[in-house]
Order: sequence, then structure tokens, then C-alpha cells
Amino acid sequence: MNDSVESFEHASLLAAHDESNAYDAVVPPIVQTSLFTFSSYAEMEETYKGNKVRPVYSRGLNPTVRIFEEKVAGMEGAEDGLAFGSGMAAISSTVITFVKPGDRIVCVRHVYPDAYRLFETLLSRYGVTVTYVDGRDEAAVAAALPGAALFYMESPTSWTMEAHDVKALAALAKSHGVITAIDNSWASPVFQQPIKLGVDLVLHSASKYLSGHSDVVAGVVVGSKALIGKIRGQTLPYLGGKLSPFDAWLLVRGLRTLPIRMKAHEAAGLSVARRLADHDAVASVSHPGLGNQLPPGLSGTSGLFSFTFREGVVDIPAFADRLQLFKLGVSWGGHESLVVPAQVVLVQAAGPNSAIDFGVDPNMVRLHVGLEGADALWNDLAAAIDAARRP
Ligand SMILES: *Cc1c(COP(=O)(O)O)cnc(C)c1O
Repeated sequence: MNDSVESFEHASLLAAHDESNAYDAVVPPIVQTSLFTFSSYAEMEETYKGNKVRPVYSRGLNPTVRIFEEKVAGMEGAEDGLAFGSGMAAISSTVITFVKPGDRIVCVRHVYPDAYRLFETLLSRYGVTVTYVDGRDEAAVAAALPGAALFYMESPTSWTMEAHDVKALAALAKSHGVITAIDNSWASPVFQQPIKLGVDLVLHSASKYLSGHSDVVAGVVVGSKALIGKIRGQTLPYLGGKLSPFDAWLLVRGLRTLPIRMKAHEAAGLSVARRLADHDAVASVSHPGLGNQLPPGLSGTSGLFSFTFREGVVDIPAFADRLQLFKLGVSWGGHESLVVPAQVVLVQAAGPNSAIDFGVDPNMVRLHVGLEGADALWNDLAAAIDAARRP
């Protein structure tokens, strides 16, 4: 981990701090209320005039949610943040704020599948078009950017784990006056801080590592006061996808252990990925940490990666059913290890005529390496491969 990563540890995450400092409680209270009342007509008037900032109604400002927003903004090195009831609510509200009919988005290929579907099924109805580019190909990105309204990034990408030079891409977009947003769920701010690489807006599915316990669905966007203010003022009130106070409280609890969880996911993930890469049943492993050095901008790797079985060697349904520690399930970022066959969730579900290229093939499998321990997880995988090997 580099110095800038160490710097947010741990004071802001662990500090009882927070806004109210109620009863000097170490854990901030859950302000589980929809409504805040005013002590006088004058106070109500001052608040509605904008002269006083205070909670009015929890679709806007809620103190528990605000603690979470401020902590994530602090970790990412951003001025401000806004939390939502899911990662997709954060993504859709952010994207919609910065495009209008006739606009074009440039998007790196192989982003999170529901972000693709947002672009292809919903935004296309409102006259927004999208150009997909290989984010590793800077010339292709430069050619696509002129005239675009937004550059949407994710690095590494979902499933294929294509890692980009985020700093270089952000600089290209800036030179064309294009606003940039990146989905940073995979690395978390522990291993990648895109604001410091020049990106304007950083998105998270907080359901994943920020929560860390698979008990919350949530999202967050951070950036400058001006850009976050646009999302807060122009989009959030009407789409209304605000995070709830109880979920914010769970997220604040999760954040306190984020740095140590990420180091554990990194170590176990690399250990399992290296052993898979050496296995004779495996054709390739897509993990950004397997090269001689990390991709630029990344200071570490998380526990999510994919690999591809050699054609015909392993019965993938039998492999998946034989696993005991790895549970069959989507999502990731919690303590538990998970396995997802691409064949089921992306190949068959998308259908033969799908125009969307997720970059996967039917022999691809995604793993989330949790906190059970690398050796136990490897033994589980190796035994399942042996049991499912075709004669
Ligand atoms: C899960 C996920 C999302 C969507 O987040 P939700 O909280 O499920 O809405 C977005 N991006 C990535 C990379 C994800 O894995």
C-alpha cells in the first residue's frame, strides 16, 4: 500500500466523531426518522430560503446517512458525497444528471452488466446513445471522446478484469471537456482513489466491499461540491433513491474494518488465483495482480476475479455443485466466498441474439474469494475440479 492510501487510515474511519456526538456514544445513533420539525416559523422560513442547512425530511438530508457520505468522500479524497438505496440508483441518478436527449456517452467495454442495460434499454428510449471502447486502447478512447457528454469508466472491468490507465484516460477526457465517472466498487478506496487520478465522479455499489457483510444494498457517488450538488439538486429529489438511516448505520460499521478486510481479500485472492493459473484444467485467469507489476493507479487487488476452464475438460455444473465453501451466488464483497458460472448468468440469460458483449465465454467462471482462508478455499476448488473432471 502506498502513502496516500495509508493516509486515510484510520482516524476518520474509526473516530466516534460524528455530527451529533450524542451522549458521547462510540457508535453514532441511528436517526431513524422520516421527518424533522422546526422550533419556529422563523427557523422554517430561514431553512426554506436556504440560509440555514438542517435536516427537513430524510429523502434529502438525514444525519446517519450524512456520516456515511462524509466518510466515503473523505476516503476517496472528494469534497462531497451522496448515498443511494442501491449501486444502480447511484449510477442511474448520476448518469441522468449529466446527459439529455441527443447526447452521447463514451463507455469502456465490459462494464457492470446492469450499467450496460441501463444504457441500452432505458437511456436509449430517451435519445441518449453510447459508444463502447476498449479502455486499454487510448487512441480509440481519444477518437471517441470529442463531442461526448460523459465518459463512463470501470477499472478493472466486470468479469474480464481489463485494467486501464485511469489517470491517462481522465486527462484525455479533461482535454476534450468531457465529465468523467468511474465505478470503483472492485478496488474500493483502499486500493484505488480515482479523484486523485483526475476523475470527476466516483461511484460505488456499497452493497459490496464498503458494507462487507452482505447485509445491505446501497450505493454512493462522491466528487466536487459543484457536481454532487447538481445530482442532489436536480435528480435525487425526483428519482428519490435515497439510502435509509439503518442501512447507513450498517455501512458506517462496515467501513471501520474496510482496510483490514481488503488486505485479507487481496492476500487470499492472489493465493487462489496463482494456484488456479498453474492448474492443468484452467486455460486462463483474469486477475489484475498476476502480472509483474500492478496496473497504473491500483495499489492493490481485491478478492474478485474470473478464470476460464480449458474447453471440455471440466463439467462446470458438476464443479459448481461439488463446491462447499464457495456458494453459488451473484454479488460479492462480503466475508463469504462465491462462484458464478458465466454460462448461466450472462450467456444463456442474455440470449443468442444479444447485442451486448460482456466479453465472457461459456467456460468462464467468476470467483469471489472471501475471508475463510486461502488454503481451505484452494482445497475446496481443487477437490471440486477433480470430482468434475471429464473422463
Ligand atoms: C453490484 C454492482 C453494481 C450495482 O450495485 P447494486 O448495489 O447491486 O445496485 C454496480 N457496479 C458493480 C461493479 C457491481 O458489482
